[in-house]
Amino acid sequence: MIITLIKYGDPILHNKCKKINKQNNLKDKNNLKDIIIKMFYLLLKHKGVGLAATQIGLTIRLFLVNCFDSRKIIILNPSIVITHCFDKEYTEGCLSIPKVFEQIKRKENIFIEYVDINWYKHKVRSKGFLARVILHEFDHLNGILFLDYLYKFHSSIFITKNS
Ligand SMILES: [Zn+2]
Repeated sequence: MIITLIKYGDPILHNKCKKINKQNNLKDKNNLKDIIIKMFYLLLKHKGVGLAATQIGLTIRLFLVNCFDSRKIIILNPSIVITHCFDKEYTEGCLSIPKVFEQIKRKENIFIEYVDINWYKHKVRSKGFLARVILHEFDHLNGILFLDYLYKFHSSIFITKNS
């Protein structure tokens, strides 16, 4: 299976991804591992910090994080709890939207629950840049791109100005 990076403009990026079923996962485990290896290859090739399955055209709840050299994380079927904290603005980009960087506000502290490739459950607290990467990739699984926040922001200004 050859995988390629899906770019902005392809409607698949706005699809909501489906949970990975354990039974199917066991049946297709080698297939899933193969996908993950190829996704990591793509992620490292583009020097990215995260990649979601939907960015290669697969609408399944899977993403990878490559924040620091020592921290390569495979995340399946995540759920996120936002802890009570402030928003922080930071410059963000996306491999599917090349050469665009914008200031995006996100929560600084999160709890994420997910399973890994061996179906072990993890519940971890993340903060700072790692939390930002996780939130960005999690959005991909729900068909949300970071530019969508800007459009909402701009349209709200438009409504305020014209009301
Ligand atoms: Zn992205």
